[in-house]
Amino acid sequence: MSAFDDLIAANAQYAAAFHGSGLTGRAARGLAVVTCMDSRIDPLGLLGLAPGDAKILRNAGARVTDDVLRTLVLAVYLLGVERVLVMPHTDCGMTKVNDSDVHDLTKAQGVDTRSLEFHTVPDQNAALRHDLTRIKTTPFLPAGMPIGGAIYDVHTGKLLPVAL
Ligand code: ZN
Repeated sequence: MSAFDDLIAANAQYAAAFHGSGLTGRAARGLAVVTCMDSRIDPLGLLGLAPGDAKILRNAGARVTDDVLRTLVLAVYLLGVERVLVMPHTDCGMTKVNDSDVHDLTKAQGVDTRSLEFHTVPDQNAALRHDLTRIKTTPFLPAGMPIGGAIYDVHTGKLLPVAL
């Protein structure tokens, strides 16, 4: 018995019905989506996408961190991405705490996280605009590449576009 037995069993069923895939690692729809790790978000489903269509980058809060920028550079120059949608969501846990709250919460469990930056989100619209600007102004991505921002409503399933 392992903590992953349920997943291994599910995969056996999945693989039994799998007919192989002619897909490559390039994003068939030329899209990258930066979104949150929130378990309520189905990025492919809510955007009408299928496996192979898009690069999906997820982290806490859908923040454009150095690692997201690094990944976007690879996605654009090596993997066919030509447009980027940054998609945070309503009811995000990252909007409900600040970094020092997180440090306090982990400290209460005996862990010192002060060397980590959590990129918490006190103002979601401001954070989204900041992150969109970060992608738009980085010298490492093509000038003029379409960059979009939208907030996904986890209670209605609707996407609300946000102007840059
Ligand atoms: Zn979230």
